[in-house]
Amino acid sequence: MESQKKYQPTFSFELFPPKTETGMEKMKSTVRRLSTLNPRFFSVTYGAGGSTRDKTLDTVTWLRAQQLDTAPHISCIGSSREHIRELLERYQQEGIKRIVALRGDMPSGMGGGGDFRYANELVDFIRSVTGDHFHIEVAAYPEFHPQAPDAMADLVNFKRKIDAGANGAITQYFYNPDGYYRFVDSCEQLNLEIPIVPGIMPINNYTQLGRFSDACGAEIPRWIRRRLQGFADDIESIRAFGIDVVTELCQKLLDQGAPGLHFYTMNQSGPSQTIWKNLGLSAR
Ligand code: FAD
Repeated sequence: MESQKKYQPTFSFELFPPKTETGMEKMKSTVRRLSTLNPRFFSVTYGAGGSTRDKTLDTVTWLRAQQLDTAPHISCIGSSREHIRELLERYQQEGIKRIVALRGDMPSGMGGGGDFRYANELVDFIRSVTGDHFHIEVAAYPEFHPQAPDAMADLVNFKRKIDAGANGAITQYFYNPDGYYRFVDSCEQLNLEIPIVPGIMPINNYTQLGRFSDACGAEIPRWIRRRLQGFADDIESIRAFGIDVVTELCQKLLDQGAPGLHFYTMNQSGPSQTIWKNLGLSAR
């Protein structure tokens, strides 16, 4: 973890582009609350194959109009070079300086194709088209990507993204900090000189968390699973327990030198805001 201590910690929030007007209004009020905490940036997800293109653009434009630092995600699978080039131009015009570059997962029913196979190719393309304009973040997987043949292959593939020009990484969420420490140590051994910011998923809803975790390969430790199951429909207890567990996780990570935290807000302000305040981040 030593190499991570030299970076200025970055605290940020992730949003998804709402599909409806009501969802948009809810997201706006979430952003208004969270922006009082002075995060470094808000990131906005992007559905693979361009499935949320317009909604992502609308959300990014609104955030920029609020003078907030915004980091759009771009997922490249199923997209053409031309399509990505247009997006990059649009983001440059909007004054965007940071991008989260991903492969993405094709939604079921949408065909494959496109000019990119992996995120390292997207990073390479962004650098070739826009030089050093963007600060590029990529995804990291302390518990390893579910499609990776083995841990070492995944680390080597992660290195390809850094070699292509990524400046930093945000991890998939996890609840076991040891996996993150070990991942960062392996990156140090590969001489990867970038901040690797833990992605933090607050716990609000057991069923939803279980579904996400199965899909993305994030492990919910048995003791957390069993406690959450025990609360059944008692939402208040789930939230209180979740805040406690996730605050403790974040504190451990920061104490060990993690270079910031990136909260998967799910467009809700409450849990991220409480954890942020518990950690005293506003005062930093
Ligand atoms: P890659 O880095 O390309 O890796 C994908 C798999 O391919 C891995 O198993 C890797 O080991 C392997 N691999 C990589 N490069 C090579 C290579 N050159 N040769 C052979 N194998 C290779 N998804 C979205 O659709 N939209 C989003 O906005 C979004 N935001 C995210 C934000 C974060 C912080 C994270 C952690 C994930 C996000 N995702 C998003 C999910 C992500 O798109 C999926 O996890 C996807 O399956 C992998 O994307 P990646 O960029 O990590 O892919």
